[in-house]
Amino acid sequence: MSVLPACPRCSSEFTYADGSLYICPECAHEWPVQAATETAEEGGKVYRDAAGNVLQDGDTVTVIKDLKLKGGAGVVKMGTRVKNIRLVDSDHDIDCKIDGFGAMSLKSEFVKKT
Ligand SMILES: [Zn+2]
Repeated sequence: MSVLPACPRCSSEFTYADGSLYICPECAHEWPVQAATETAEEGGKVYRDAAGNVLQDGDTVTVIKDLKLKGGAGVVKMGTRVKNIRLVDSDHDIDCKIDGFGAMSLKSEFVKKT
């Protein structure tokens, strides 16, 4: 059982959840279910490497496993250092350039901060 929050407008405790909304039957106020977590994590998404370290733009990371490139363009070897990463909110987490490969997209779970 999850505990429902009190209505932020009239403090009623008789709120209920309907899909992605909380609804207060007393004052008819509606607000999104995610609101509480969004305020807790201000600044948006937190990126973490394979060890759980928080990553930031400009960090240098090391690839922790061989990564095959799409289209048979080669393999980025485990241990490859990647400088000056840029964090992106996409299906991958990191945009970067790797010597010999050029522009690359990586997932944060396959790298470790150095
Ligand atoms: Zn209310």
